[in-house]
Amino acid sequence: MSNLAPPCGPGSALRSGREDSVFSTGPESIMARLVMKFGGTSVANIERIRNVAQHVKREVDAGNQVAVVVSAMSGKTNELVAWCREASVLHDAREYDAVVASGELVTAGLLAIALQDIGVQARSWQGWQIPILTDNAHGSARIESVDGSDIVKRFTEREEVAVIAGFQGVHKETGRVTTLGRGGSDTSAVAIAAAIGADRCDIYTDVDGVYTTDPRIVPKARKLEKVAFEEMLEMASLGAKVLQVRSVELAMVHKVRTFVRSSFDDPKNPTEGTLICDEEEIVEQQVITGIAFSRDEAQITLRRVADKPGVAAAIFVPLADANINVDMIIQVVSGDGAKTDITFTVPTAEYDRATAILGKAKEQIGFEAVEGATDVVKISAIGVGMRSHAGVAAKAFKALAEKGINIRAITTSEIKFSVLIDKDYTELAVRTLHSLYGLDKV
Ligand code: ADP
Ligand code: ASP
Ligand code: MG
Repeated sequence: MSNLAPPCGPGSALRSGREDSVFSTGPESIMARLVMKFGGTSVANIERIRNVAQHVKREVDAGNQVAVVVSAMSGKTNELVAWCREASVLHDAREYDAVVASGELVTAGLLAIALQDIGVQARSWQGWQIPILTDNAHGSARIESVDGSDIVKRFTEREEVAVIAGFQGVHKETGRVTTLGRGGSDTSAVAIAAAIGADRCDIYTDVDGVYTTDPRIVPKARKLEKVAFEEMLEMASLGAKVLQVRSVELAMVHKVRTFVRSSFDDPKNPTEGTLICDEEEIVEQQVITGIAFSRDEAQITLRRVADKPGVAAAIFVPLADANINVDMIIQVVSGDGAKTDITFTVPTAEYDRATAILGKAKEQIGFEAVEGATDVVKISAIGVGMRSHAGVAAKAFKALAEKGINIRAITTSEIKFSVLIDKDYTELAVRTLHSLYGLDKV
């Protein structure tokens, strides 16, 4: 992202000396500039939107300048996506964006109305009106620049809250509407926070922070006070959908103080959420910080592939050319020096396409059979402490074996390891690792 410079930069009077005031909400608090983002369940109906308006009013009454970013009402984006598929399986990606971006437009307008109704000056903004300029990767566009100057001008001239439709932008050359990928309103919020030089970006959702694992799966999950950027990046990319991966990348690069907190708290008495921050800010480091899981993974095995140079390229180049992301890869050493098996994973949504591509390239690759499974799940353990501790993953393999859980594939890197297992064991495996690494709430 090239141009997210705030109109009045980090050195401005607005930002200086604010670190202590991030959660003080009384009238005596020093004015801050905030971005408040509300996800789908937080704006699910008019009553919930009124509740959001109360959260915004609290911050405005405290003297803060506020830009709000909203998602579509919960379920709306899924419905719009399904309509596109129903209209045509092979729909035009530009028209898909025109359709799915509309969900956020409704909530932005409704929240502006709800704010005006309780005496808060507010105006809604669509992505192109800001503008939020993106590349032209329709369906998963990247933000290239955000012009925050009009919003900031209206903060000072009119004391007006900006209510911005999340998830969308406009392609800088064609002027067509783009969307930022599922969960993209988080990224809109952090990008706007960077562009207007916000003191913090609050991501309000249906849980009151980032937990050691999905609290809906493990009731013993613990809320984390702080999570390091690197850990949050891994957790998000390995399945914890509480934040979109790109929003964490942006927060890290632009040093946006980002909190995850609940819109279901009493608007008059909110609790603190989880701060995503630099590793150095975290005093008590655990070896493992969190467990994530992703059901969005499918396994493909090519049986009896020739064990010779060039075979891996023959398999993976056509998949890369088709924009299919390959994640875990295992090649078995051949017993006879001639044939081997190769197993790898692709996103579930790409499974049919991947097997079709491999089927076409069968002659060229030279394998006997292609086998696959979509009933698998990838479970990952994440923690910066893994850098300085040995044997962390080995402990997990033993614990999973003791529960009779078979591991199909393994990958490790500096601060995480992942295992691929049968989907039926998802909860058991997540709970086992959660207890194993001492993450259970006591
Ligand atoms: P929103 O609609 O507000 O964007 P999301 O559904 O995208 O909300 O993200 C919030 C959900 O993320 C929670 O309801 C929770 O089930 C899930 N989640 C997954 N992993 C975690 C985690 N480690 N901590 C908190 N929530 C998590
Ligand atoms: N409404 C979009 C989605 O459901 C974007 C978002 O909520 O962040 O993916
Ligand atoms: Mg989300």
